[in-house]
Amino acid sequence: MVVTTMVGCSGCWNPIGAGAQSVWVYDLAFHEICAPSCRACGSRLTADAENRWSYQGAVVSVQAGYGLRPTEFWCGGCRELHERDDAFAQD
Ligand SMILES: [Zn+2]
Ligand SMILES: [Zn+2]
Repeated sequence: MVVTTMVGCSGCWNPIGAGAQSVWVYDLAFHEICAPSCRACGSRLTADAENRWSYQGAVVSVQAGYGLRPTEFWCGGCRELHERDDAFAQD
């Protein structure tokens, strides 16, 4: 099956072409060069680690209604630490 939907990069907002390298965090796609860094340790999202990453975002109003704008990213290891701390650091 060929996916024809144009995927947009959540870093630079330009489309990600069919041949371009991309990395994903859940439903967010990035060009490899636009990949986010972990908020806690600063390591960069790579394609082989993408399924361990997560993000937190803020809901923003966009043309189509509402969208989620990512505000911080967490790698697998730091996410576990963060989730443990979450109850104490709500903001
Ligand atoms: Zn990009
Ligand atoms: Zn990290």
